[in-house]
Parts: sequence; structure tokens; C-alpha cells
Amino acid sequence: MATDDSCETCGFQWDAVSAPEIPRRIKTATDSFVDVLLKAGPSADKRSAPERWSILEYGSHVRDVLISIRERIITASILDEPTGAAIHRDERVALGFYRLDAPAEVAGELSAISNLFVRTFASLPTGFESREFYFSPVTPAKVTILWAGAQALHECEHHLADVEENFERLSPGRGR
Ligand SMILES: [Zn+2]
Repeated sequence: MATDDSCETCGFQWDAVSAPEIPRRIKTATDSFVDVLLKAGPSADKRSAPERWSILEYGSHVRDVLISIRERIITASILDEPTGAAIHRDERVALGFYRLDAPAEVAGELSAISNLFVRTFASLPTGFESREFYFSPVTPAKVTILWAGAQALHECEHHLADVEENFERLSPGRGR
């Protein structure tokens, strides 16, 4: 990965993130995400536009991202230069794997996996942040465990902004 990459949408810079700040920022972002899921309630599964995921779909996605990246980090801590499994984000939605998800359940799951991810990342043996692996066979770039932690953080913060925007669009009398 180029070290000067930044997200075109939210401006996140992977290279500007240090390992010690990742757990705290992930917890802050997922706590806010859980708040949006719970306050959206019945409207959490509404899409404000056909091409835009619902708050609930974003919640399920971030939950699965944290599960997936945690596994890749553990594998890369054990094996030399493994290739992580791709998440196939759109296929999960298209095949209906999130259709039974409900806001309160996803909120609880997101909170739990966030805690678990943060604990795992904070438990990394000294120096393991620089171990390298191939993030995914779909985008076969070699990254470090630190980059993967930053990517997990990016997913949480980037999609928190998405669901906050969704909430604005869906709330009566707001954002109109
Ligand atoms: Zn972003």
C-alpha cells in the first residue's frame, strides 16, 4: 500500500494512525454507531436511496469487517505473509445474509466484536504491528498489521459518517 493513501470520501489517512490510538478510536466510533442503530429503531432498515445501504446494512457490514480483519491479524501474527480472506461485502447483502438482522441484535453484536477487536489489537506482542501479509486475494496488496488495524478503524469511522447521514435523511423534520 502506498503510504500516502487517503480516503477520497472521508479523508482518512492510514499512514497517520499510530497503533496506540486505534483501540480508543474504534471504541468511540462503534459506541456512536450503536447509538445511531438504536435511535433509528424501525427506520434502521430503510434505504434513503436504492444505491445506498441502510443503517442496519452498514451496521452488519462493520460488524463483519471487524470479525474479518481480526482473523486476518491473528493469522498474520502466526504465519509469515499469509493472504487474508476477502469479505465480499456486496455479495453478503445481495445473497440476503443480513436479511434476518435486527437493529438491537446488530447493536449488541457490533459492541461485542468492537470490544473483542480492541482487546486483540491491544494484546499484540511487541513489534507485531510491522508483520506483513497480503490483505486479500481480491486486492492483493501487501500490508502490515498496523495498516490492517488502521483499516478497521477507517471502516468504523467512515461508515459512522454514512449512518449519521442516513439518520439525518430519514428523520422527520431533519435534513430537509
Ligand atoms: Zn473513508
